[in-house]
Amino acid sequence: MTTQARNRFTPRWFVGAECVFGALVVVLHLLVPAFDVVAQPSPQLSALYESGARGNRVNIVLVAEGYRQEDKAKFDADVALIAREILAEPPYDEYAGFFNIYGLFVESAEAGSDFPKWGQYRDTYFESQYGCGGLGQFICLTVEGDLRLRRVLESEIPQYDLPVMLVNQDNPGGGAGVWSATASATSGGHDIVIHELGHLFARLVDEYGGGYQGREGTNTTSTTIREQIPWRQHIHPETPIPTPATPEYANVVGLFEGAAQSSLGWYRPEQFCKMRNQTGRAGFCLVCREAHVAAIYRTVSPIDAFLPAETRVTTATNDSIHFSVDLVQPTTHILDVEWFVDDVRISGTSGTNAVTIDADRFLPEQFEVRAVVRDSDPLAGANGIQREVKWTVVRSDFAMVPRGSSFDKSPLGQNYPNPVAADATTTIDFKLTTPRRVQLRVFDLAGRAVATLVDSDLGEGAHSVTWPATVAPGLYVYELHAGRVTERRKLVVAR
Ligand SMILES: [Zn+2]
Repeated sequence: MTTQARNRFTPRWFVGAECVFGALVVVLHLLVPAFDVVAQPSPQLSALYESGARGNRVNIVLVAEGYRQEDKAKFDADVALIAREILAEPPYDEYAGFFNIYGLFVESAEAGSDFPKWGQYRDTYFESQYGCGGLGQFICLTVEGDLRLRRVLESEIPQYDLPVMLVNQDNPGGGAGVWSATASATSGGHDIVIHELGHLFARLVDEYGGGYQGREGTNTTSTTIREQIPWRQHIHPETPIPTPATPEYANVVGLFEGAAQSSLGWYRPEQFCKMRNQTGRAGFCLVCREAHVAAIYRTVSPIDAFLPAETRVTTATNDSIHFSVDLVQPTTHILDVEWFVDDVRISGTSGTNAVTIDADRFLPEQFEVRAVVRDSDPLAGANGIQREVKWTVVRSDFAMVPRGSSFDKSPLGQNYPNPVAADATTTIDFKLTTPRRVQLRVFDLAGRAVATLVDSDLGEGAHSVTWPATVAPGLYVYELHAGRVTERRKLVVAR
């Protein structure tokens, strides 16, 4: 497409651009004729870092803009460096296993980018330009370029989450829109990419001043009332509000003036942060790292796969059922796993990725098994972040299993109290119509006997046994064997 033709179809599509390097830009997709006279180049997708299947990962795609075929080696080197830098940046380093990073090479006829203000145009595939919204370092695409980006991504990697155009131009710049971002391939360009991902992925606001209009966000506020600060839970009661930007408060969460494009009247959580200092060694502040972790769990489930693969399981009595979860693990800590049967925690399974449950020990015809996975890292917030998988188990031959419904019809009574507190004592009653050899035992859900309460010959009549529940809290089954009669009931040991 010639420069002239492009200008004809370049509408002004920026409304209220907020900043030089990013922030949310409202893009009006004006309906313009999409005359795509440029032959579709053959894009080349390469995996820079792959931790798992694209369906359950955050897929970052670094897309070439303004790279000619002879610049392919430069593109490869540029994106390899950027991928390494992203994965070294906290909290990406901690959650590397939740990401895939790809390079997508698309050839442009000319190198560089447009500077309409200076009358400089380059014939590039996605029609990037500097100076959008009147901001010199803000790089955006034309509507046609935006459409082409969508088309290329849909055909090459439809599972894309975060597309970043890497613009082959030696002037620092970038920007973040609603669904994609731009960054210049300058030295230090990886810091711009990471900053723009802060907008695009974690929905963070710029923390630097600049004289534009501020706005409320996860990491910016205009309030100076301690109880109303979005990140108040991180501010020590003795830290003054607003907080002076002095060395004493260099690594402290407080309320520092200068944020959200405004030098005055707007505040940020820490003195230094990648949302304020795009280049250089500043990492994300605590509040911004937390926002990234929340964004990771909005996209990726820590449960990568589970068995049985069907969540409705039919089983026969005496079958052992194996349940397991495959987890996406952070690099710095281990996720907690807890297993539940009918909302009661199974004893001794915390932290294990698999359990075996013996259907014979259950009284109900149908029950539910749940694996709850929790990230309790401080960056996951005070309550942690949890996800779960739930199976419904139905016993196909339930009618054949003897069941104790009440003491009236059954020789075995319900224990009392039930639930019983761990280490407290509970009582079990049972009746015998004739003298019998009797066994009364308590089992955990894996079918292991944890206590034998009776194993002797007993006479006819009512009997009562007490049991000190010195076992881990959880669901148990007690079983009475008397002659040919077997009866079972559930018992809960509470925390
Ligand atoms: Zn921040």
